[in-house]
Amino acid sequence: MIPTPNEAVTPAKTRSEELFEIAKTLLPGGVSSPVRAIKPYPFYVDCAKGAYLKTADGKTLLDCCLGYGPLLLGHAHPTIQEAISQQLEKGWLYGTPTELEIELAKLITRDYTSIDMVRFCSSGSEATMAALRLARGYTGKSDIVKVAGGFHGAHDAVLIKAGSGATTMGIPDSAGVLSDVASHTHSVAYNDAEELETLLSKNADIAAFIIEPIMANIGPILPKPGYLKDIREITAAHDVLLIFDEVITGYRIGRSGAQGYYGIRPDLTTLGKIVGGGLPLGVFSGKREIMECTSPQGPVYNAGTFNGHPLSMAAGIATLNWIFEHETMYSTLAGYTQVIADTIADIKGHSGTFVSIGSLFKYFFREKAPQNYFDAKECNTDAFLELYMHMNKNEIFIPPSQFETNFLSFAHAEDEIEKICVGYETALK
Ligand SMILES: *Cc1c(COP(=O)(O)O)cnc(C)c1O
Repeated sequence: MIPTPNEAVTPAKTRSEELFEIAKTLLPGGVSSPVRAIKPYPFYVDCAKGAYLKTADGKTLLDCCLGYGPLLLGHAHPTIQEAISQQLEKGWLYGTPTELEIELAKLITRDYTSIDMVRFCSSGSEATMAALRLARGYTGKSDIVKVAGGFHGAHDAVLIKAGSGATTMGIPDSAGVLSDVASHTHSVAYNDAEELETLLSKNADIAAFIIEPIMANIGPILPKPGYLKDIREITAAHDVLLIFDEVITGYRIGRSGAQGYYGIRPDLTTLGKIVGGGLPLGVFSGKREIMECTSPQGPVYNAGTFNGHPLSMAAGIATLNWIFEHETMYSTLAGYTQVIADTIADIKGHSGTFVSIGSLFKYFFREKAPQNYFDAKECNTDAFLELYMHMNKNEIFIPPSQFETNFLSFAHAEDEIEKICVGYETALK
């Protein structure tokens, strides 16, 4: 049949486009979490294996987003799959303690010397929320400090805009957050120890400083030499707890996270993402004396129906054991991001910067690597969007934002790195 002219110019909708139209009538913005609302419509995933996603439109994409970080071993890793299925056979929720919690706690405390005790919850957001309450309960002080632009999940105390009046009262970043709540959250620029020192010496009400040791939710932005050591000393001198939010960096920058890599011992640590092997899990943890303030041992309340969920415990144990047996993979992955860095360094006629650490990497549309959130905001986000589209056309999925880190997994090998290098070469030329 010869199509009428009208039919000939209107391409059929893709399955993803159709699904998104329905989703928009049922889910706000069509999605369950905002970053997924890729414009003009997100692709829907049918299944995934190793380093690849298969979309509902029949396309295969090389995945450098990896669920925004948790999938260090790649998709549907057989060891994790086996551990989950074995637990499934035995049931998946009891409302009583299981031996699995002891086993996972032992693995975490083995790798992180700053951690004596852990409490399992269900997400990174819950972990930072609980850690901040614990810090307040332990110190008896009211306020917290975070890094401007630092991300610690989606709860009131940390949804504070990185305003220019950084050290003054916080401004809520979301409707519905009371300005009264926000006024107890202060922010300082990353990589500026002096600003922290000034704030802490002027304000005696501060319970904790929460920070991603590497700003992995913007980029990565790396700590200047000595910065983490300085903030450790400054917080200790002012009796302020130092909380490392290692929800991304934990098990990503080596087995003992960024704290092991840089040799810094925080008072409290939050973990998530990789520690659950891709199943929902959050952990807040740290020094015994502080952790013992958690209910039922102490007065700071925390509870959850799904805390220590057997499936997440099983997936976490299998993941950490696998990492333990394949630790050299970390340097292999760091070698791969270096190959991408070298490739980009050889490309002429572009003016951005490539930043990487371990298996985290990002191309910033800015001449110099950002040192903090304010630098990162200067990036050309329109140019980034073009890069995203180009990569997508080349069957590579990178997170659709200039400010989200790209990830590699242990399922990424030389062929995948080659594909990524070609993606950048053709995009940046
Ligand atoms: C992802 C993330 C969180 C929030 O974790 P969820 O599991 O998404 O609630 C908190 N802190 C950091 C550093 C994160 O990267």
